[in-house]
Amino acid sequence: MNKYDSELVAGILSGHGYRLTRERGDADIILINSCGVRLHAENRALSDIDQMLAWKRRRAGRVVGLLGCLPPLIGEDLFERHPGLDFALGPDSYHRLPDLLNAAAAGGLKSGILIDDHSHETYGDLVPLRETGVRAWVAVSRGCDNSCSYCMVPLARGGVRNRPVDEIIREVETIIAEGYPEVVLLGQNVNAYAADGTGFAGLLRKVAAVPGLKRVRFMTSHPKDLDDDLIEALSEGGAICPDLHLPVQSGSDRILEAMNRGYTRAAYLNLVGKLHDKVPGIALSTDAIVGFPGETEADFNDTLSLFDEVGYASGFVFRFSPRPRTEAAGLKNDVPDEVKTNRLMKLNEALSASRTRQHSGLVGKTVEVLVEGSSPRHPDQVIGRSREGFMVALPSDDLHPGDIAAAEVEGTSGFTLLAEQVKTAVL
Ligand code: SF4
Repeated sequence: MNKYDSELVAGILSGHGYRLTRERGDADIILINSCGVRLHAENRALSDIDQMLAWKRRRAGRVVGLLGCLPPLIGEDLFERHPGLDFALGPDSYHRLPDLLNAAAAGGLKSGILIDDHSHETYGDLVPLRETGVRAWVAVSRGCDNSCSYCMVPLARGGVRNRPVDEIIREVETIIAEGYPEVVLLGQNVNAYAADGTGFAGLLRKVAAVPGLKRVRFMTSHPKDLDDDLIEALSEGGAICPDLHLPVQSGSDRILEAMNRGYTRAAYLNLVGKLHDKVPGIALSTDAIVGFPGETEADFNDTLSLFDEVGYASGFVFRFSPRPRTEAAGLKNDVPDEVKTNRLMKLNEALSASRTRQHSGLVGKTVEVLVEGSSPRHPDQVIGRSREGFMVALPSDDLHPGDIAAAEVEGTSGFTLLAEQVKTAVL
C-alpha cells in the first residue's frame, strides 16, 4: 500500500508541475514515505529523516517532508526530535501537499505542521504516477475496521473506506490502455470489500472481465473474511491468478486470541483445505509474528507445525515489536530477543523447505510466464512470474516485457525456477 501511496503522491505533484527525480543531487524536495507497522521500519524512516535533514542543510531552499503512517503515530514530537523537518502528513492528507510546497517555496511555511484527517478520503479522483513495468496497483479500499491487538494500521489509516465499483473498473480500463497486462488489487483487508451491493469476489470477477486484462491478483486477505464465493472465484481461472496471500500470524489458538485475529488454527486450516481442493496448484503465502507476548515454546511449535502442514510457497516472518497505542503494547514483551531470533530462523527454514518442495514439484511441468524484463545477472535470459507468482528465468532473445510465454521448468535456483520456452505451446 505504501508503494501505491508513493505513486499517488507522485501523481498529485506531477499534476502541479513538479518533476520526479531519482537523483538526490538534482532534487529540491525530498518526501519520505514512512511505514510504522514494525519498529524496524520506523527506525529506518527516522534515520532517513536525519540523513535528509543533513542534505537539506547543504543548500538553502531545500524542503524535507515526512509522509505515511508515522506522522499520526508519533505526532508533534516528530518536530522536536527532528528539528528542520518542514512538515509531516498522514496517509489521507496528501491533497494538501501542493499548498504546503507552495508555502515552502514562498518562505511562508511554519515548521511543525502536522495534518492528519482520514474521515472519508479514497483518492478516487487521482491518477497515480505509476512506475513502468507489467504490474499496476489499484487500491480498492483504504483503512481497516479490524482491531488486531499488535497493529497500528487502523490508528494511522483510520476506518475502512471502499471505492465504488465503477471507479475501480474505470481505473483498470485506463491501466490496460496504458499497456499494463496485470493489476494487483490492494486493501488492508480486501475480503471485507463491499460497495454498490458487490462483495470482493464480485468485484474480482468484474475486474477480471475487463477486456485486455491478462492477470489480476490481490492482497491482503484476512482469513476470517475469506468466504466460499471468493474461493469459487479463484477456481474460475481466466485472468484471476491462483495466488493468495493469507496471513496466519500464529498457529496457536491462544496467541491468535490474544492477537484478536478472529479465527482459530482449525478454521484457518479448513480454509487451506478448501483452497487446495477447489484451486489445484494454488500458491499460498503468509505473514507470521514470532515472540508475541506470552508465546511459549508450545505456541511456537504450533506455528511451526502449521507451516509444515500448509506448505507455503513464500512468506514473511517478523519478530514482535510493540507499536505505540496498540493493545499489545500494554502486554509484557516477555519473549527474550534471542528466543525471537531463534524462532524467526526456524520459521524461515520451514518456509525455505516448503518453497523448495513446491519448486521441485514443478520440474518437468509447463508454466505460463508473464515476462517482466531481462535478468539483471544473465542478460541472455528474461525473467517473469508464473500465474502462481513464482519467479521464472528463461533464455530468450525474442521475448519482451509484457509477453506471455509457456515455459517448461527444468530446475531451480534459490527463489527462481529455471525454465526453457516451449514455443509450440498454446496458451
Ligand atoms: S486486518 Fe489486522 S493486521 Fe491487517 S491492517 Fe487491519 S488491524 Fe492491521
